[in-house]
Amino acid sequence: RVVTKRSVVVVGAGITGVVAAVFLSKSGHRVTLVEKGEIGGAVSGASLACITAHMIDLDEIELLRWSCQTWKDFAQDSPVDIEYDLCGQIRFIECEEELSAAIRYVDSERECGLDSSIVDSDQLSQIEPNLTGDIVAATFDPDSATVNPFLAIRAFILQARSLGVDIRQHSPVDEVKVQNGRVVGVVSKGEMIRCDCVILASGPWTAELTREFDIDLPILPRKAQCLATVAVPPKTIRRVISSCEASSGVEAGYTQIQQSFSSQVLFNTVLAGGLSESGAQDSISEVDPDFVVDSIAQLLHLFPCLNGVQLLRSWVRYEAVAPDQRFLLGPLEPDGLFIAAGDAGTGFLRAPAVGQLLCDMVSESEPFLRHDLYEPYRFTNQPRSE
Ligand SMILES: Cc1cc2nc3c(=O)[nH]c(=O)nc-3n(C[C@H](O)[C@H](O)[C@H](O)COP(=O)(O)OP(=O)(O)OC[C@H]3O[C@@H](n4cnc5c(N)ncnc54)[C@H](O)[C@@H]3O)c2cc1C
Repeated sequence: RVVTKRSVVVVGAGITGVVAAVFLSKSGHRVTLVEKGEIGGAVSGASLACITAHMIDLDEIELLRWSCQTWKDFAQDSPVDIEYDLCGQIRFIECEEELSAAIRYVDSERECGLDSSIVDSDQLSQIEPNLTGDIVAATFDPDSATVNPFLAIRAFILQARSLGVDIRQHSPVDEVKVQNGRVVGVVSKGEMIRCDCVILASGPWTAELTREFDIDLPILPRKAQCLATVAVPPKTIRRVISSCEASSGVEAGYTQIQQSFSSQVLFNTVLAGGLSESGAQDSISEVDPDFVVDSIAQLLHLFPCLNGVQLLRSWVRYEAVAPDQRFLLGPLEPDGLFIAAGDAGTGFLRAPAVGQLLCDMVSESEPFLRHDLYEPYRFTNQPRSE
């Protein structure tokens, strides 16, 4: 229920902005979606788009489960096939210490209602026959899924168009305009687009648009790289294969391997945290040689059957990272300004819940889920004045 219909400019047409635009429009707000480049052309179009609540964050489990279900429903209802695949996910465990941590983590997840479990090598050979590398055990979550990021963005954009969202590509927003402490519009290509609210869903460089208001947002760009092989026989890899984060966190290293609908194997291994300096731009098109070597070594270690397979392509993008790997999500000062950025590599998964929370905030309705974890001022000494 919309309390007041507002005109809203969403800055950034990645998955966060596109989903938010649809939800806002469905709630009756008048929405303009403004993108400086191509729709989905930044990190969203480069995503592996795994949709899962498994081993992400126990504190966020309600939000993650809601997002997973919303993706599932969207895939069913969408006229565009977004290649939703309820393939399940395996997190491989490489040492006894990691196994103990994984057992504890899975126990906690099961208490929260997830269907994850620990599987031994016999069970693993049933659910992922080609994963024959030397590992101790694994977790298995049958409810993890993947979508095709391009098709998913396309599906939401088509919905946005049919709802009447004004979509502008190649239109960088240079400034947020404020009068008497309230947002009144944005400036793009010299034109003022008037509005009541502005949502900054502009990824790693969101902070550039808030600097004029003396808001210090600790969002850093992190280089996210990926490799793809030529097509291999279908079902060579059946699930999403990921490293286990239960013991040491994603900064200690991360692997994700999956096979696309076109049968290419998409994979990456990041051994170091890889945070870039503040201000780094999304203009580096080459992957790091060390990254290629480590990623191939990890792929062949886990799937020796892929030895000799040819590499087809690689890509690099920047994802937005907040210090605790959670979105900065909510109202900023001046009034009418909102932010949704800093997702740390799980923005596809979270986009529906983030979109709904933004919608609730703009509509001034009671947020449908707890959102205190995402308070945008949580790292600063500038609490928002009431
Ligand atoms: C290899 C890889 C694997 C991944 N795997 C997963 C996964 O399995 N699951 C998952 O959930 N996530 C995954 N991610 C992360 C996920 O893709 C991102 O978290 C998500 O796409 C972030 O979306 P976004 O819309 O917030 O940001 P972006 O896609 O960066 O969108 C922000 C947009 O804002 C625009 N913009 C910026 N400044 C301005 C301005 N001034 N004016 C107008 N427009 C502006 C940009 O051009 C951009 O299009 C992965 C990412 C990569 C690279």
